[in-house]
Amino acid sequence: MCRHLGYLGPAVPLSSLLLDPPSGLLRQTWAPTDMRRGGTVNADGFGVGWHTPSGVVRYRRAVPMWTDTSFASLAAATSSGSVLAAARSATVGMPVVETACAPFTEGDWLFSHNGVVAGWPDSVADLASTLPAVDLMTMDAPTDSAFLWVLVRNRLRAGATLADALSSVVADVIARAPDSRLNLLLTDGRTMAATTWWHSLSVLRADDAVVIASEPGDDSPLWTPVADRMLVTATLDPHPDVRITALPEPEG
Ligand code: GLN
Repeated sequence: MCRHLGYLGPAVPLSSLLLDPPSGLLRQTWAPTDMRRGGTVNADGFGVGWHTPSGVVRYRRAVPMWTDTSFASLAAATSSGSVLAAARSATVGMPVVETACAPFTEGDWLFSHNGVVAGWPDSVADLASTLPAVDLMTMDAPTDSAFLWVLVRNRLRAGATLADALSSVVADVIARAPDSRLNLLLTDGRTMAATTWWHSLSVLRADDAVVIASEPGDDSPLWTPVADRMLVTATLDPHPDVRITALPEPEG
């Protein structure tokens, strides 16, 4: 399963978030510690998106993060106060291509999925039928994660909050595919929202910043694990504020 990380706070070099921490996303690509029966490494590509004064920049590659030496120099020279990054372990049968790597993005939104939609695509075919055909025909990649992004994006476009878009998609997918694993992560550069449905997640709240990550990047006592089936929302307005509430349990 993939690993992901979101950051809101003062502008910092991407390398200090992703490459430098002893158990950060780079190390999690080859030595994750909490995969919960979902693969062993996260070497099928990676992606990073970050907000800049002139909009979102995204960098994705279909190679393991540790092999991309260009990224190391770029990450050291690039700073942002809002970052979403992911390392991918492709689900069996899904293509290993750059466009299947998170973050998926539109405008200010950046999105990542850690997990799998059980029985995809048949299990959620009726959800697909509610979407405009053009959304399905222009999906980033033929994967469950890209499909989840189309669902989430559709609700954001209709005016849903980040938290409502994620929690309603989790509820709709779990109702049809109960064995799915749906750790979702979404930001617009001002707010972050995340769900836990099966996979690990931790939150670090510092004086001026919040990090939400599949695994703690270091042994700071500020990391706290998030229980399963939770919705996390984080803002910096005016100080770091993190709320964790239970996602609705599936009916029946
Ligand atoms: N199922 C998704 C994919 O293959 C996400 C994979 C993951 O979390 N390992 O892209």
